[in-house]
Amino acid sequence: MDKQILNLFKLIKMTNRKMQLILCFGVFLMFLQTSCAQTRNTSERDQSTMNEENLQSREWREENYIVNRDSASANPYYGLQKLRGGNQRFEQGRSIHPRQHPELVEALVEGQYPFATIVGCSDSRVATEIIFDQGFGDLFVARTAGQVMTQASYATLEYAYLNLGTKLIVVLGHSSCGAVTAAVERPADPPSHIVSLINAIKPAALAVEGMGDNQLEMAVKQNVINQVEELRRLEAVLSRGYEKGDLLIVGAVYDLPTGNIEFLEETLQELPATNYSTKDITGL
Ligand SMILES: [Zn+2]
Repeated sequence: MDKQILNLFKLIKMTNRKMQLILCFGVFLMFLQTSCAQTRNTSERDQSTMNEENLQSREWREENYIVNRDSASANPYYGLQKLRGGNQRFEQGRSIHPRQHPELVEALVEGQYPFATIVGCSDSRVATEIIFDQGFGDLFVARTAGQVMTQASYATLEYAYLNLGTKLIVVLGHSSCGAVTAAVERPADPPSHIVSLINAIKPAALAVEGMGDNQLEMAVKQNVINQVEELRRLEAVLSRGYEKGDLLIVGAVYDLPTGNIEFLEETLQELPATNYSTKDITGL
């Protein structure tokens, strides 16, 4: 860029006054472009340094609901706190977009240890890492419409627990889910494989039938509760992990208009006895 500017200066000396004015304007534009790019790079570097410094500050960590990543991997209750904190940042428009720099992406080639497994819907408006404000290597994700599970989904979750050491599974439904809507409305002759989705969600739709005006939202919630139960009973790996208090399986619903994720109380009560600490470590 500098060489280009020098060449333009040489050209300016050799031309008439009108051309000189045009070329001077060209030089000014090039200078502007270069300095803007430099400012942008500097500000990105400053932001990155600031984030590093902030992460060391207890006050900042508390304010941004930060939970230590290693603790979240070792303890599913801390993992849950980390997910809640990330969603609070997202909902409040204060996402910090952690763990997305190129050096980390490169380092992750060596291996992964996600701290949570999310079973979610394929809906494009429910982008898992974004709504939990997490980064690369943080979440192991299985997504199908209506988070309906098949044999391959079960194997995916077992792999995450046994091979990657992920001790937390969150079944994540969402408001206005198209798959649940289909199960509630049950159209005649649904095309091809879509009938399998409807059949899988139908028990939840039937359970809330005639219970009020917001049947769709009730069916969404009931579907998540049913799916949490399905995983807690799934022989042999997940059910054993859950019963001995080593694997936490809970349900949540994402609200499209607000960005809030509600962890369902129905799936947080009467959990098996566990050796994990459940104290709040947010900000530590
Ligand atoms: Zn959906």
